[in-house]
Amino acid sequence: MQSAPLHCDTVVIGGGLAGIVAALELLSAGKRVTLLDRDSEENFGGLAKESFGGIMVVGTDEQRRAGIRDTPELALQDWLAFGEFNPTDRESWPRRWAEAYVNSSAGEIYRWLKARGISFLPLPLWVERGDTTRGNSVPRWHVVWGTGQGLMLQLIVCLHSHPRRDLLTLRFGTRVDGLIEESRRIVGCHGRSEATNLPFEVRADAVLVATGGINGSMERVRRHWHADWRTPPQTILNGAHKFADGTLHDAVQAVGGNLTHLDRMWNYAAGVHHWRPRKPGHGLSLVPPRSALWLNWRGERIGPKPLVTGFDTRDLVTRICAEERQYSWQLLNRRIALKELAISGAEFNPSIRNGSRLGLLRDLLFGNHWLLKEMTTNCADLVVAASLPELVDKMNALQGDDGVNLSAVSEAAAHYDRQIERGEPYDDDQLRRIALVRQWKGDRLRTCKFQKILEPKAGPLMAIREFIISRKSLGGIQTDLDSRVLDASGAAIPGLYAAGEAAGFGGGGMNGLRGLEGTFLGGCVFSARRAAAAIIK
Ligand SMILES: Cc1cc2nc3c(=O)[nH]c(=O)nc-3n(C[C@H](O)[C@H](O)[C@H](O)COP(=O)(O)OP(=O)(O)OC[C@H]3O[C@@H](n4cnc5c(N)ncnc54)[C@H](O)[C@@H]3O)c2cc1C
Repeated sequence: MQSAPLHCDTVVIGGGLAGIVAALELLSAGKRVTLLDRDSEENFGGLAKESFGGIMVVGTDEQRRAGIRDTPELALQDWLAFGEFNPTDRESWPRRWAEAYVNSSAGEIYRWLKARGISFLPLPLWVERGDTTRGNSVPRWHVVWGTGQGLMLQLIVCLHSHPRRDLLTLRFGTRVDGLIEESRRIVGCHGRSEATNLPFEVRADAVLVATGGINGSMERVRRHWHADWRTPPQTILNGAHKFADGTLHDAVQAVGGNLTHLDRMWNYAAGVHHWRPRKPGHGLSLVPPRSALWLNWRGERIGPKPLVTGFDTRDLVTRICAEERQYSWQLLNRRIALKELAISGAEFNPSIRNGSRLGLLRDLLFGNHWLLKEMTTNCADLVVAASLPELVDKMNALQGDDGVNLSAVSEAAAHYDRQIERGEPYDDDQLRRIALVRQWKGDRLRTCKFQKILEPKAGPLMAIREFIISRKSLGGIQTDLDSRVLDASGAAIPGLYAAGEAAGFGGGGMNGLRGLEGTFLGGCVFSARRAAAAIIK
């Protein structure tokens, strides 16, 4: 039996970063808010709670103290180049969102978060510097002390301790299936309880869709696979939300909302199977060591230009997907692993997550022994051996055939090591890039100084098999700068708003083809605040 409909001013669908930020703003304006989430209360906070917590902001105190001169103009140039925006395009919603983001990130995102008790690591990191296309000209990736977990726990505290907390109704385990339309206006939503399967309805003046992207559905990821990446790989790991299945994208489309750029995704190249999976195909995204050699399934170094992380994540995915088998290997040794191996997210960065400055310093100075032990003990995609022949045998055993060729692996490692022995200036592009990134102190601490692969004292040797891992939807529900959902003619649908990853972080794809990194969490805060401001108005 259906319970009586709930009534409120705004119903927020989705309790991730976007939904929570919007709820906070709406409460502050005295609105009665109902927030619905399909997940259980322990997962309140969505993907951001699992995230690394890196946020792209322009013109911060941390940048100034580190001597970084950054401006919205510079950031916009980087953004438009990296996203491959059409230079003549001044009017599209993604373009306008990009411009609005860089112009207001310092106030609307950074200071807003700081005012709610969130702080950042002292040194911004320099990610996505760009390769054949220009990327971040300066470091802008501000990591939250406490990672994404700290970010979300703090915002949830703000929500529960809000002076108008009594205006908020929270409902977990409630799956929204569709929107209610009356007289060409969206007036609510309906769905079912996950536990009882009983139907429910919520009626409101405004409905905000903040249900995340589509990248948790491998069927949708495959359906919208970008043409640049050939056919979808046989194995795609899931690094997105288990409920990011596009149900609300369909619901928005059913009432006339426009979906755009769904083939634009921010997937990663270095996924491994999670050893404590919480969803089918659960993957972890490695921060691939720069000093490791990136090999194809035969054990040949991928080239002629070697793959190195930190410049263009999308290109890494494109290059691996162009291989006959669309997965890869990284060849390294213990010394490289200790200094450079990392996994994106809160779960495997306990020092930052727990706000332990001492722990972070220890990991940087002496190597991350905890993570290496965790991986060598549990990670099914990592093999360790004392010699190259033994390592190749183990790689082939894992691969299930004799595809990895010992002489190809030996040749790749010996050639690379010979280049290091010869010294600078380097011919090898990977070594040139290592030299470049080591010029920035934030990277120097985490990058070996030209480490040979076969150096006996740096062993044992290791190889990691890496799959493409699905992560963020760059496209989504098209919105204007008030986060109002637009129909195919460009008109706003009365009563309907979308924010966060559901809206491609703003405008149905504000990043364009590539994201400068950190624009995802930042985009959730920004688009949610825009939605709340418009609803309040
Ligand atoms: C490991 C990891 C590391 C990351 N690191 C970073 C980083 O450093 N920087 C960065 O910018 N980004 C990062 N991201 C991406 C970022 O976390 C997400 O893009 C962002 O948190 C999305 O927030 P959201 O609120 O839009 O959606 P979500 O967090 O996906 O929340 C959506 C909510 O809606 C609910 N929901 C879904 N469908 C329904 C339905 N039908 N009915 C009711 N509820 C529903 C879900 O249960 C969920 O709680 C990372 C992601 C991961 C997984």
